[in-house]
Amino acid sequence: MGKLISVVVPVYDEEGGISDFLDEQLLPVLASLKYDTEVIIVDDGSEDKTLEKIKACKILKKFLVNVIALTRNFGKEVALTVGLEAANGDAVIMVDADGQHPVEEIPKMLEKWENGAMIVTAVNTRNTTKHRIRSGIYYKIMRVMGNKKVMPGAMDFRLLDRVVVDEFNQLTERNRLTRGLVDWLGFDQEYIKVKTKGRKNGKPTYSTKKLAGLAMDSVVSSSRTPLVIFGYLGAFITIFSLIFGLFILIEQYILGDPLKLDWSGAVAMSVFVSFLVGLVLVSQAITALYISQIHTEAKGRPLYVVNKKKSFVSKNVKK
Ligand code: UDP
Ligand code: MG
Repeated sequence: MGKLISVVVPVYDEEGGISDFLDEQLLPVLASLKYDTEVIIVDDGSEDKTLEKIKACKILKKFLVNVIALTRNFGKEVALTVGLEAANGDAVIMVDADGQHPVEEIPKMLEKWENGAMIVTAVNTRNTTKHRIRSGIYYKIMRVMGNKKVMPGAMDFRLLDRVVVDEFNQLTERNRLTRGLVDWLGFDQEYIKVKTKGRKNGKPTYSTKKLAGLAMDSVVSSSRTPLVIFGYLGAFITIFSLIFGLFILIEQYILGDPLKLDWSGAVAMSVFVSFLVGLVLVSQAITALYISQIHTEAKGRPLYVVNKKKSFVSKNVKK
């Protein structure tokens, strides 16, 4: 039996471009593949004519197409999760329905997969200034926050091996960011460089504001660095004002101001206040660390993921 490839497409209000995407872009690519294929379209609660448009598409007659319609808009990340759970393929490719992801690169992804890649991620080489600034900031933040594996320009246009999909489906946390979770799973990734295209129809839903929210989410869900920074800041302030305060106390009040520095009461007072501020910051950071522990527990992620491809048992042991 041949290998099965699943293509997962999240769709929300794409009536303008969905037919073009499915019939003009995806269909010819699928037809050129030597694999069995299935298409899983997750309609993320579209309120326009998207579903009717899909029903009229030629691709339905040529390939197995599984359309899963959600009751309302749950967001792209959830839609992707639905698709990954429904996919049966030996490899699963996720791709946006707005025509921005170049589906003609799918054969290249499959080639890497055939050569053993577990994850193939498309990396954007398109460079509009706005894009560069936005994603530049995003990836800077992610890296500073200790997420070293994020690749600048990595897109949600990816191929995942069955093994990765199965592991992904084990993850139960609710606030999810597909790419963050896939990165977390830790399998080696291969990259292909592609040029994204402009969106032909409709509006992108990821505005700068939404992207900022996304960045926040990924930081909060993947890193404790911000907490730790404030903890250190607090510790620094506390220690500094403690030393300074002791110095004033000893110099002025115990030794009788031999250096003639003549500290005013206001200085003593403000040193004392900043000592307290430092203490508050430290204790707040400690509380936050406890909460982050609870957060980690609540996510209920598996403790580890075994790379079955690389693991082995010694054979032909001589006694
Ligand atoms: N999408 C979705 N649910 C949403 C928003 C978007 O399923 O709530 C789909 C959308 O139809 C498209 C893909 O996710 O196929 C990417 O959406 P968009 O182009 O708006 O995002 P961007 O290209 O800005 O990342
Ligand atoms: Mg888009």
